[in-house]
Amino acid sequence: MTQVPHPLFDLRGRRALITGSSQGIGLALARALGSAGARLVLNGRDADKLAQAVSHLRQEGLEVSGQAFDVTDADQVAQAVEALEAEAPIDILVNNAGIQIRGPFTEFSHADWDRLIATNLTSAFLVGQAVARRMTARKRGKIINICSVQSELGRPTIAPYTATKGGLKMLTKGMAIDLGPHGIQVNGLGPGYFATELTSALVKDEQFTAWIEKRVPAGRWGRTDELAGAMIFLASPASDFVNGHVLYVDGGMTASL
Ligand code: NAP
Repeated sequence: MTQVPHPLFDLRGRRALITGSSQGIGLALARALGSAGARLVLNGRDADKLAQAVSHLRQEGLEVSGQAFDVTDADQVAQAVEALEAEAPIDILVNNAGIQIRGPFTEFSHADWDRLIATNLTSAFLVGQAVARRMTARKRGKIINICSVQSELGRPTIAPYTATKGGLKMLTKGMAIDLGPHGIQVNGLGPGYFATELTSALVKDEQFTAWIEKRVPAGRWGRTDELAGAMIFLASPASDFVNGHVLYVDGGMTASL
């Protein structure tokens, strides 16, 4: 943690808000940004779980605080972003909060569809807009939307999730176009299959894991620390002319039929 980062990947002096970072991929992405020198703001709805994640990263020597809010609630988002910006600017926003609900298309409830859209897509609009309004005034900023291999590819029982991640890919491009003239880069990071709480049922499913081992050229599940390099790249000066791109970190899955 104490080594000096390469200037292109140096995040010292930058502050990052990572939504949905009390566990899983968000927590790993926060740790990555912290290792490159960023000050971190973690987020989640469950304040206790969030406090534990904050204390965990603090013990690792990172500068970190927590802001509990629900990314689907426009009022909570507006208040949280205002409170954070009153302390110090948010230079890097990672729209990571997301959920998965599986079920056959014909039986999928409207309520679950709405929850998925709100959490995985509307959240990036709400938090992205609130933060981008401040970034445009500063003429600088990085926004990274956490997409998925499902931004490109479907699978049985997850049509609504796939729709949210496909939508997020196109929101990323649209935001990049509108915000690019203001010195802001908006990119996507698309993880393949990583073992987290969200995928725990699949990890335990021997048949599914055997399928992953055959389907992914790398022959295995991803480890969340393997997202670190792509995260730091998209948040740092190294990507200052990269805009509207989705970088897949998937062991080659989207390259292969
Ligand atoms: P996870 O382990 O279930 O963690 C989700 C995080 O989001 C938690 O911290 C959760 O905390 C928070 N969250 C959920 N709803 C929220 C809300 N409404 N407001 C604020 N925070 C909320 O999931 P993960 O596997 O790390 O996934 C993170 C992201 O990566 C998601 O966007 C997911 O779609 C994407 N992704 C995951 C994989 C994978 O293989 N795991 C692959 C591709 C993409 P609270 O419950 O306390 O709010």
